Amino acid sequence: MLRAIVGINWGDEGKGRMVDLLSSGCKAVVRYQGGNNAGHTVVNERGRFVLNLLPSGILREGVVNVMGPGMVIDLEHLWGEIVRLREAGVAVTPENLKISDRAVICPPYDRQQDILEEERLGAAAYGSTRRGIAPVYGDKYLKKALRMGELADPDALSRRLQDIVRWKSLTFTGVYGAPPLTPQPVWEWLMHFGQPLLPFVCDTGRYLDELARRRDDILFEAQLGALRDIDYGIYPYTSSSSTLAAYAPIGAGVPGRQLDRVIGVLKAYSTCVGEGPFPVELLGEAGDALRQSGGEYGAATGRPRRVGPFDAVASRYGVRVQGAHELALTKLDVLSDLAEIPVCTAYRIDGRETADFPMGSALDRAEPVYTALPGWNRPIGHCRRLEELPPQAIAYVDFIERLMGCPITYLSVGPEREQYIERGRS
Ligand code: GDP
Repeated sequence: MLRAIVGINWGDEGKGRMVDLLSSGCKAVVRYQGGNNAGHTVVNERGRFVLNLLPSGILREGVVNVMGPGMVIDLEHLWGEIVRLREAGVAVTPENLKISDRAVICPPYDRQQDILEEERLGAAAYGSTRRGIAPVYGDKYLKKALRMGELADPDALSRRLQDIVRWKSLTFTGVYGAPPLTPQPVWEWLMHFGQPLLPFVCDTGRYLDELARRRDDILFEAQLGALRDIDYGIYPYTSSSSTLAAYAPIGAGVPGRQLDRVIGVLKAYSTCVGEGPFPVELLGEAGDALRQSGGEYGAATGRPRRVGPFDAVASRYGVRVQGAHELALTKLDVLSDLAEIPVCTAYRIDGRETADFPMGSALDRAEPVYTALPGWNRPIGHCRRLEELPPQAIAYVDFIERLMGCPITYLSVGPEREQYIERGRS
């Protein structure tokens, strides 16, 4: 079975823990887009792990982890992750990690360009994570990127690198007034961090196709959420890759295959890292309290996340563009202290109410319309069955499910592996 776990909202929905849960029994877990600009946090018996590049299945024995051609890979960062895992006693070998020969390398100059551009934008910056993601995807589509498989032929790589650095240097000097680039430091970086990765590099498409033919279970894990998708998200405050389930087979290396199941992950309230329209944003003390209860600080950057009530307008749009068959509602426990829980059920834009998620400047003018639901005012982290939840919590989940028009099959009530409830498929 080919299943994808994807984000319904702005990212940080808790996809990492769902992948950790559902990867048990899977043959392979695959990352198919993005780079080290976001992170999954997985908590299990071995500790707390932040994974920016490695698929979450790396923490499970017997699971093969694949980094697909749709990814962009900062080699230095990847090494850092591998070393930290090995230090914690987690094996990372060519048997349990396979990197696509077509995946794009994110070199240090793209990281630098990301910073130069954010600084040029000043107050109007997009809130980039400054990890080089937008410049490197730009390079890819301008056909000026280096790919993992090129590391196997240093002579050819060296020739391409000379051309690309000459071209990139024009942008550095001409656009940003920065010093020119030279190929030598990039070359040394590629050799130092890239060459030792070669044993992991292969045609991941061929490998996955073989698994699919044998009907092995493959799990595709997305980074970020639907609202950060380059085509369907809150452009230009999006990521530079496709975060949608539909892209999973392409970004993984099996473009001819179709997913059997899409599991959308959404949070019991809203959070958003970085800039861009966020109609339900809760400021002041109420926002601080929710941020604190939810521990809402970016896994990749440590930045405080913007927080707010559940946004059913944005989430229903997310469910639609992801084509979700079922949903996992995470972090329900975080709402346990609230006497009353508001849910945004519509936007008011220019005096008119709508339940459709708009694009462009209309979103900046959207004001949330709330319905308040009663809170449950007691901890729920110990609940493992639906019946153990307070009736108000059950009513909250039912209400969200009705608004989403998609079954909620999992609830999570705490960060630990076993703190979840299977809700059954209605
Ligand atoms: P991802 O990128 O979608 O995997 O999301 P993150 O890993 O950045 O954010 C999820 C964070 O919430 C992590 O710190 C998790 O340990 C934590 N978390 C996940 N599920 C729950 C939950 O049900 N309750 C609480 N309190 N924390 C959770």
